[in-house]
Amino acid sequence: MAARILDGRALAAELRGAIAERSTVLRTRGIVPRLEVVVVGADAASLAYVRGLESAGAKTGVEVRVARLPADGDEGQVRTLLRVLGDDPVVHGVILQQPLPAHLGIRRVAEAMPPAKDVDGANPLNFGRLAFGSGTELVAATPLAVMALLERSERSALRGVRVCVVGRSSVVGLPVALLLLARDATVTVVHRGTRDLGSRTREADVLVSAAGVPGLVRADMVAPRATVIDVGTTYVDGALRGDVAYDEVARVAAEITPVPGGVGPVTNVMLMGNVVTAAERHGPTAHDDRAS
Ligand code: NAD
Repeated sequence: MAARILDGRALAAELRGAIAERSTVLRTRGIVPRLEVVVVGADAASLAYVRGLESAGAKTGVEVRVARLPADGDEGQVRTLLRVLGDDPVVHGVILQQPLPAHLGIRRVAEAMPPAKDVDGANPLNFGRLAFGSGTELVAATPLAVMALLERSERSALRGVRVCVVGRSSVVGLPVALLLLARDATVTVVHRGTRDLGSRTREADVLVSAAGVPGLVRADMVAPRATVIDVGTTYVDGALRGDVAYDEVARVAAEITPVPGGVGPVTNVMLMGNVVTAAERHGPTAHDDRAS
């Protein structure tokens, strides 16, 4: 029996309504939720990404602007720009388009992200708050999208569920693992250094793959009737490919997200939700985010 499709586009459409309503309330108070996307250089993939954000913003009442630096912009310039945006009272959310050019170190740059406007959870302060389970942090949009899709799955009661997360990056794998642990799931995180990946993934009721390796997850690595969330997005010959060998895994799993049309559309909506949350918390006049 073919797996049920966990449809990210349908979920995104559903979630957009509530966020758009919150934006409307803010606008009646004279606050226009605004996201600034910091782009260093300009490659085709990042331009396409920005277009996707503009479209998601238009549907949720969030203004999306691009703050551009030249491809050879140095760390000081990025930090200065982040500080300026942090101090700008009409900006509510800031993200740094990744991957950054190789000469920029994401760790040091992320520390300059204004925490209260850090709508993709990049600043270590927000990451630390997530690890503490404080509930006040802004959490990266993709992990939130994974959780929203799981919420609509057969495994929505996550307590005691065995989850395997492939990938441990600070933007996807690790925050997904932390969010799942906070829900009392039993979490195994595997990565490039893991031996015999399949023996781990096969034990999982829920498999979340965020490796960025097309076709990494094959049918024989998936437990029968598992729920499979594919975060991977890699362009191969101009086409977007996930980590999961979709056709064969869909014959084994109970539920599966497609690529495209799974995690991606939900991620954009979650990001807009974070911008609206930041605007609700801080309004047009709060500007000293570094102190919060
Ligand atoms: P990353 O390169 O920072 O991290 C990849 C992780 O996967 C690492 O922990 C690495 O150890 C692990 N990994 C790599 N190859 C592996 C292998 N063969 N076996 C086991 N583990 C392996 O990437 P990232 O930023 O975390 O992104 C992961 C993927 O998710 C990428 O394809 C990226 O484009 C995609 N992504 C999608 C969205 C979305 O909205 N859909 C958002 C962010 C990232």
